[in-house]
Amino acid sequence: MSILKQLVFTPRCLICTRLGVDFCTSCIEKIRPFRARDLSEIEVCFCAGDYSGWLRDSVICYKNGDARYTKLLAQLLSRTLDKLDVTENLTLIPIPSSQQKISERGFDSMANLCTNMIRERESLNLDTSNLFLRRTVVDQVGLTALQRQENLDGAFGTRWIINGTVVIVDDVITTGATMNSAARALKYAGAQRVFALALCGTPKTR
Ligand SMILES: [Zn+2]
Repeated sequence: MSILKQLVFTPRCLICTRLGVDFCTSCIEKIRPFRARDLSEIEVCFCAGDYSGWLRDSVICYKNGDARYTKLLAQLLSRTLDKLDVTENLTLIPIPSSQQKISERGFDSMANLCTNMIRERESLNLDTSNLFLRRTVVDQVGLTALQRQENLDGAFGTRWIINGTVVIVDDVITTGATMNSAARALKYAGAQRVFALALCGTPKTR
């Protein structure tokens, strides 16, 4: 292959631009999963990494519709799922995007990542239509912990009963108010054990 063809057709790491693969291992190794602080409604919550650097940029690009990041973010979530250390069959429940966000972006960001995750693993189930946003919630940014709680109280509903162990999946977790609110709704619907996964955690999450 000519050098020109090689340059055109060989993928480059989206993060460091190194030639070879879409995402190189040295970039991925720099992202360190961590356990979030205890949340009242969740057994264990893990974040794939900190909300900073290329991980934050990748999440933003992905949510803005850049599909090149889908595989990377789904892989990071899958790797973090192993940290939960649960052996039973799991049902992934993505936090639903609001209808407004879905029409703006043209896709439901977390449901799309979870769909990619279950392709790789037979033991995973996916339920994208049970949990729903009962009402519009205002953007959480800038709210205090108490205001977040009030903003989200009763915000989620479920459409049918649910059994077994579920893992709620979200993009960014700060105080965990969204996770707790969704977990309450899922437990009310019958979930026995509720775990959580997030792509990113902020310093408040630790
Ligand atoms: Zn790289």
